[in-house]
Amino acid sequence: MSEKYREEYEVGFSPRLVMEEASRCLLCLDAPCSSSCPAGTDPAKFIRSLRFKNVKGAAETVRINNILGAICARVCPTERYCQAGCSRSGIDKPIEIGLIQRYITDFEDALKMDIVEVKEPNGKKVAVIGSGPAGLTAAAKLAEDGYQVTIYEKEAKAGGYLRYGIPEYRLPNQIVDKEIKRIVEMGVDIVLNTKVGEDIKIEELRKEYDAVIIAVGYSEGKMLPMFENNRKVIKAVDWLKKCKDKKGNVKVPENVLVVGGGDVAMDVVTSLKLLGCPHVTDVVYEQFSEFKASKKELENAQEQGVTIIDGYVPVAVARGGIVKFKHRVIPAELKVKADLIILAVGQSPNVENLGVELEKGEINAKGVRVPDTNVFFAGDIGHGEKTVVWGVRSGKEVAFEVKRFLGGKK
Ligand SMILES: Cc1cc2nc3c(=O)[nH]c(=O)nc-3n(C[C@H](O)[C@H](O)[C@H](O)COP(=O)(O)OP(=O)(O)OC[C@H]3O[C@@H](n4cnc5c(N)ncnc54)[C@H](O)[C@@H]3O)c2cc1C
Ligand code: SF4
Repeated sequence: MSEKYREEYEVGFSPRLVMEEASRCLLCLDAPCSSSCPAGTDPAKFIRSLRFKNVKGAAETVRINNILGAICARVCPTERYCQAGCSRSGIDKPIEIGLIQRYITDFEDALKMDIVEVKEPNGKKVAVIGSGPAGLTAAAKLAEDGYQVTIYEKEAKAGGYLRYGIPEYRLPNQIVDKEIKRIVEMGVDIVLNTKVGEDIKIEELRKEYDAVIIAVGYSEGKMLPMFENNRKVIKAVDWLKKCKDKKGNVKVPENVLVVGGGDVAMDVVTSLKLLGCPHVTDVVYEQFSEFKASKKELENAQEQGVTIIDGYVPVAVARGGIVKFKHRVIPAELKVKADLIILAVGQSPNVENLGVELEKGEINAKGVRVPDTNVFFAGDIGHGEKTVVWGVRSGKEVAFEVKRFLGGKK
């Protein structure tokens, strides 16, 4: 069964289909798609190149702007960004920008194109803590301008939630490996199995490097007090990590209860089904109309046969894995018995693990510099839980600010 979990579930475009899709594009002058990408990618430009059969030019447009272009092509919630504003929606349906970008980056990979140029070393050193999308992008943008960058990562492999969160059927780790290889080839050093705060102190980094970027994400899954110390309970991000790490070679029990209705919950329930779990019940606090999960992922979960119950809140957990719920509005109760309970009720930051005392206000809402220090923030830790493409944007922004701070490029 784990085969299904390992296969990319969305099929990519063939050369003929990608040209057909590109030919639907209206080549709008004001290109709303291009103004609604958080990372500043210009779909109108790469679609135009594709229409002229200039796939190489299209690949340059994607890659120069977004060092994680092949990843974003797969996981970006395009319906919320570029495709939301697409003028073609008024005629039939938006252009499949994500799938077009995927075709272009697959082409780039097949041709082993080497697009990003790296300048001569400028003698300045920057440390980045965390190798998720924000840390990787910041590192690449600085390396491009000749900075010597070292990323410190607590896990055995780099990538953050790209590697250990987003399931294999949506983002295969071989794609993550390829994107990271590109960044390493730009001269970025990645020190793995090194937790800043324990294995090395942040103060040492601040002395050794001209600037330090904290990009540690929201790496802790949240726990609800009533489930604490219950051996049948696991946090969603911990379960997803185990699954991806073992390439889906994990045992799934007969009955699994998932609590939560966001995208992370949808990843859990769909993974469970693809791994062969017969009964997956997802109980969600929100009503269907208020669900936080993307429509695409919700429909995918439903197609897999997940039972989704909306509007209930857990109130007690009894012996034998029986969880009692109450309806939010009407006087109704629900009891679900499960062999395993997976909590997908959000993630939280953990700056304490860095060994620094930071006031809330010091984590600048814009994810840049802690006042009067050489310490910067990027990614979810600076902005709250966002998306991969926001991590890319924030990585670019922080790299720009570090360059300004160190007196480099204006
Ligand atoms: C299950 C799941 C599915 C998701 N699906 C999508 C999706 O489909 N599309 C989308 O756009 N977004 C998705 N997201 C959100 C997206 O993954 C995050 O917004 C993004 O990864 C945040 O990037 P980041 O670089 O800030 O942090 P992270 O990706 O969390 O990376 C932080 C890194 O810092 C490391 N770290 C933490 N503390 C230390 C320390 N003390 N020392 C050294 N290293 C440390 C961590 O190990 C980690 O590698 C998903 C998130 C989850 C959890
Ligand atoms: S908004 Fe849609 S139709 Fe217009 S240029 Fe962008 S992809 Fe093409």
